[in-house]
Order: sequence, then C-alpha cells, then structure tokens
Amino acid sequence: MRVAIAGAGLAGLTCAKYLADQGHTPILFEARDVLGGKVAAWKDEEGDWYETGLHIFFGAYPNMLQLFEELGIQDRLQWKSHSMIFNQPEEPGTYSRFDFPDLPAPINGIAAILKNNDMLTISEKLSFGVGLIPAMLRGQKYVEECDSLSWSEWLRAQNIPERVNDEVFIAMSKALNFINPDEISSTVLLTALNRFLQEKNGSKMAFLDGAPPERLCQPIVDHIQSLGGEVHMNSPLKKINLNDDSSVKSFSIMQTSLGESNEIIADAYVSALPVDLFKLLIPQEWKGIDTFKKLDGLRGVPVINIHLWFNKKLTDIDHLLFSRSPLLSVYADMSITCKEYEDPNRSMLELVFAPAKDWINKSEEAIIEATMEELKKLFPDHFTGNDQAVLRKYKVIKTPLSVYKSTPGCQKLRPDQKTPITNFFLAGDYTMQRYLASMEGAVLSGKLCADKVNQYTKKLLETNQKNAL
Ligand SMILES: Cc1cc2nc3c(=O)[nH]c(=O)nc-3n(C[C@H](O)[C@H](O)[C@H](O)COP(=O)(O)OP(=O)(O)OC[C@H]3O[C@@H](n4cnc5c(N)ncnc54)[C@H](O)[C@@H]3O)c2cc1C
Repeated sequence: MRVAIAGAGLAGLTCAKYLADQGHTPILFEARDVLGGKVAAWKDEEGDWYETGLHIFFGAYPNMLQLFEELGIQDRLQWKSHSMIFNQPEEPGTYSRFDFPDLPAPINGIAAILKNNDMLTISEKLSFGVGLIPAMLRGQKYVEECDSLSWSEWLRAQNIPERVNDEVFIAMSKALNFINPDEISSTVLLTALNRFLQEKNGSKMAFLDGAPPERLCQPIVDHIQSLGGEVHMNSPLKKINLNDDSSVKSFSIMQTSLGESNEIIADAYVSALPVDLFKLLIPQEWKGIDTFKKLDGLRGVPVINIHLWFNKKLTDIDHLLFSRSPLLSVYADMSITCKEYEDPNRSMLELVFAPAKDWINKSEEAIIEATMEELKKLFPDHFTGNDQAVLRKYKVIKTPLSVYKSTPGCQKLRPDQKTPITNFFLAGDYTMQRYLASMEGAVLSGKLCADKVNQYTKKLLETNQKNAL
C-alpha cells in the first residue's frame, strides 16, 4: 500500500523504514534540503560541521539501538565511560564525577551516588533515596500521576532539601527539556531516573561518530529506497485535502525547486511534522475534534546550540559535561568525543544554551559574549595569563520552537499515533510514547505509527477483498 508521510526527521524516517519492512511503499516528503529535522547539520565554508543540537544516545534507548543494529551501523556509536560529569562552579576548573561500576542495576547507580561526596551530603542522598521509593515501587503509573507537579514541587512534597535541586537537578532538567525544575513536569525527571536506575547501562552515553544526516539519516533513506520507497527533499506539505467524510483525500505537496504543487494520493497519510507546524495545517473540519484541540496545549520550547572553535585544547575529557552554569546546559569537546570532528590540537566546544527564552531574539554576538563569560568561569586557566585560548570562529543555531515544553499536565494532551480520522496517523516525539521528547521518543513514535498504519491497511485490504467477491 502507498503511504504518504510528511517530515523526514527521525520519526518520519523511522515510520517509513518500518512500513517499507512490512512491504508497503512509503513516500516521504521533507520540506527542507537536509534530512533529520532536529538532528539536521550542515557544513560551513571550511568543511566543519555544525548541528541543530548536541545529541547524546543513551543505553536506555532500546528502539534506537535496535534501529542501528537493523541498519548494520552500530559501530557508529562511540560509547563513553559509564559516568556523569559535572563542572563545579564553586571550584572553577574542576569536575565532580558519578562513576557507575560494572555491577547490576540499581546497585551500580546507588554506588555511583554514594561514592560522590562533592555535590550531596549523606543526609541529602538519603532523603532523596527515600523520596524515590514510591517511583521505584509503583513504577510507570506513579510516574504518570506525578505529571500534575513540577519537579521542584515534587521534591518539596517528598521533603527533599532544595539544595539537591540546585546541585544536581537544575542541570538535569535543562539537559532533558531546556527548562528549569520549577517549570518541568516531574514525570520527565522520574521517567529518566527510573530508566537510569533500573537498567544497568541506562545512563551510559554514546556520541554518533559524525553528523547525523550522513551517519544516521542517510542509511535509513538508503534502506527505504532499497525496498521501493521514495524520499523527496524540498517538498513541503502545504495542505491536507479532505473527502466529504473528513478522511484524507490527498496531500498537496509543493515542489520548491519547480515552484509547483502536486496532489499526492495514497492509501494512508502520516504527519511526522513537529507539533507547532502540524497545528498550522490542521483542516478546519478537524479543529473541533478533541485529539487535535488538545494540541493547542503543546508548544515547542526555545533552545540555542552553540559551536566554538578554539586555537588550542581546553579539556581532555572524552565525555558529555553538565556545566551547572546559569546560561548553559550540557556541552562537549567534539574534537575529542566525535571521530569525524576530531582535532588533536584544537577544541571545538558544542554547547546547549538553555533556558533560552530571554535570549532567542538576541544577536549572535550578544549570545557568544555571554557564553564566553560563562566559559571563563568554567576554564579560568585558559582565559588568564599569557597563553590564553583564542576563539577562532563560532556558529549559533537558534531553534525557537524545538521539542514540546514538558510542563505539568502535558501528558494528557499528547495524541496517540492513531487519530480519529480513519486514514490519517501521527508520528513525532510529542505523540504518546514512554520516552518523552527525545530521539528515542521520535524513533519509537515512528515505529508505533508504522504498526498502526499497517493494522489499518490490513483491514482496508480485507474490506476491499470482501467487496470484490
Ligand atoms: C538542541 C537540541 C538538543 C537535543 N539533544 C538531544 C539529546 O541529546 N538526546 C535526545 O535523545 N534528543 C535530543 N534532542 C531532541 C531530539 O532531537 C528530538 O526529540 C527528535 O529529533 C525529534 O524528531 P521528530 O522526527 O519527532 O521531529 P523533527 O526532528 O522536528 O522532524 C520533523 C521534520 O518535519 C519537517 N517538516 C516541517 N514542516 C514540514 C512540512 N510542511 N512538510 C514536510 N516536512 C516538514 C522538518 O523539516 C523536519 O525534518 C535535542 C533537540 C535539540 C533541539
């Protein structure tokens, strides 16, 4: 069966891949000239890559890891030591580590927390451990119920000292959804903690060995095309056309290069657009339907991804770092962590600037100046004295509406991949799946969507056969 899919981010690509595996013909339309959506990347005039976001893969990403295996590209993930490393603002230039020993979960996590004495006192660790007991015992149901509370509210309800938030969770909350613990739903943090504490390698991190469009998205496209599917770039979905019964009649696709619009007819239709852009295309006739009305409550959060190329090495750490600085979230020296970006003599720091609400409209120069001020605190030795690090060049990528902002109450707004419209389906990290707004969430949503399309087309085939008799 022909399935028209709009959007070649990870959700749309994965959906097309699994549909092709099931014998269907996916026809994928991407608005831009680059694959990957929020994992898109480009080369500058000197051939250096810059990305929409610094992306980390976790051991707790079963669907993503399975995808890598199915494509035969698992060697492209560069796994790092099983640790979490935080800058220590009170002792500039030093790091505090949580090192997970090679023991089963949750013993390895508990050992990592107990061994770290820089950030939390014994009594803070104990009160946090006790607070987590309901989440561990009651599992996902409890985690979902906690969506009524922000993370700060949840900590207070468990009598966990505010300092635990300041020391650890501002950094984690900014890394997970680019917002602070006062805003983020406690479901997000509890979901991550549950995965990290319950799976031995859940919090183990990997970097892709190069730019995602080439190293991850292109192999998915090759796979889709090898099975007869199609991928069209520069082809935005402009309009969803309806039949009299409000089912989808066709997609109007603009071919940007030709300046003309085509009507694409298929057996089933998928939107794998980000929620903010999909909302703009919802046909008038669907606007009263609860599934689509609820999407009004989901909105992308702003974030800024920064690349700084220096004339010398600033660090030798082959890992993700939690900056614990007011303006920055996580960062990494990509000249060490990523094979294709390797440089033995000079650092390329990729940093996530968050929360970005007050900065997204500021000039690149102002953002870089503020970032450099933060970096001087993190690496004081490199920015004082005679042999100071010099910034050679920079790139600032702003995403005003990135992943949906996971504030309390959002869980009940997230739609299923199957919609009330019989032949129309949704994929995307914002749709309901247990991995929230992440690459794993996008991949899982694509896979779930493909399954639901497959069930629908099977029924359609049965009905057509019956009618033919
Ligand atoms: C700065 C940053 C850092 C991140 N870090 C991590 C991380 O470390 N780990 C992690 O797991 N996740 C991370 N994420 C989240 C992750 O990137 C996303 O959750 C995931 O990539 C979303 O995939 P998606 O397919 O749902 O949506 P998108 O990637 O947004 O894909 C949607 C696609 O639809 C296309 N499109 C839009 N309009 C149209 C149209 N009209 N017609 C056709 N196509 C259209 C877009 O161009 C895009 O290609 C990060 C995100 C950002 C922004």
